Amino acid sequence: MKIFAPKETDPVETRASLDPAAVKKLVGLGAVVVVESGLGERCDHPDAAYTAAGATVTTDRVGALGSADLVTRVRKPSLDEIGQLKAGAIHISFLDPFNEKDLITKFAGQKVSAISLEMIPRTTLAQKMDAISSQANLAGYVSVIVAANRMNTIFPMMMTPAGTISPAKVFVLGIGVAGLQAIATAKRLGARVTAFDVRPEALEQAESLGAKALRIDLGDTSGTDQGYAKELTPEQLEKQIQAQAKVCAQSDVVITTAKVFGRKPPILIKKDVVESMQYGSVIVDLAAETGGNVEGIVPGEETVTANGVKLIGLANFEGRVSKHASQVLAANFANMIEHFWDKEAKTFKINPADEIQKGCLITHDGAIVHERFKG
Ligand code: NAD
Repeated sequence: MKIFAPKETDPVETRASLDPAAVKKLVGLGAVVVVESGLGERCDHPDAAYTAAGATVTTDRVGALGSADLVTRVRKPSLDEIGQLKAGAIHISFLDPFNEKDLITKFAGQKVSAISLEMIPRTTLAQKMDAISSQANLAGYVSVIVAANRMNTIFPMMMTPAGTISPAKVFVLGIGVAGLQAIATAKRLGARVTAFDVRPEALEQAESLGAKALRIDLGDTSGTDQGYAKELTPEQLEKQIQAQAKVCAQSDVVITTAKVFGRKPPILIKKDVVESMQYGSVIVDLAAETGGNVEGIVPGEETVTANGVKLIGLANFEGRVSKHASQVLAANFANMIEHFWDKEAKTFKINPADEIQKGCLITHDGAIVHERFKG
């Protein structure tokens, strides 16, 4: 089986789908691995490192796409590039399937088996291939580092002969994988952290990391069977926004990570709350790329409000630590390929009945096979 990793084309993308360690593992399975020249140039892996790991480096992107049995990439492909894949090929990447109907239809028409990284089930067995988690964890870390970098104050308390500097107050909104890492990172830097999530179990996890949990009685906030939060009712949302407003106003840093699977993230911080915050405080919105949790945030940009609040809506936070982000992402790819590897035939075995593939295989054999996207 020939596996091809093309270079990412989106200028914001610094990660690579395969790193040399993943290449080595795949070659060890008996795969032929081809990577596009420059694949790792933005995550510190020169072509020579891929060659040393057993890959062939090519500059013929179109030719390699057309002959690959399996393509790994970070971002979704263009419609044109789907058209270059051969029938029967497998394509694994983030796909944003809820918003990319044309892409899915094109994959089906091209008879390509498309696997969406977002749709990998959050089960124990699939944890080793869970790219959402591996990347969110790093994004959570980066959100705090970026905030610290933009502030004109420090995180830890310092008692000096010149007086006492009080610790930064950080509010983390949304305590999933990214939020937990943001809490841990802010604590390590010495901040005083408060956190809120609609899932009660998440509040306990935040407390175990040393954060103060903000408790708001919103009534029923039970999640999905996958452990995700459900969308709140407009009344619940309003109650939350009111109850957390004071914490925001008193915080030096607010980090928002709240997402609802398959939907636009909820707006949790309205303009009046931003206006109530102190001059020089920072809001980092990890959900900005998909719409954001903060009113007035500009996706992909940093802006400053009239009252001096820095709004950071940058995209691809995990891409700011591209070497480690690529390391864990590539490990997710390699683990998935290994998990479904047919040792005899030396191929990735597509099996739509498998529990994991049932969750993330979107198209196969000329049809949209995933229950949520059929019809
Ligand atoms: P996510 O990125 O979908 O959402 C981030 C957080 O936002 C979640 O904690 C969610 O509860 C929260 N949120 C939603 N609406 C909110 C609101 N109005 N106010 C405040 N917070 C709000 O979540 P995620 O980080 O991908 O993790 C989701 C769940 O999946 C967690 O329970 C996590 O423990 C679980 N998980 C399980 C596995 C596994 O078993 N293999 C792996 C990873 C994650």
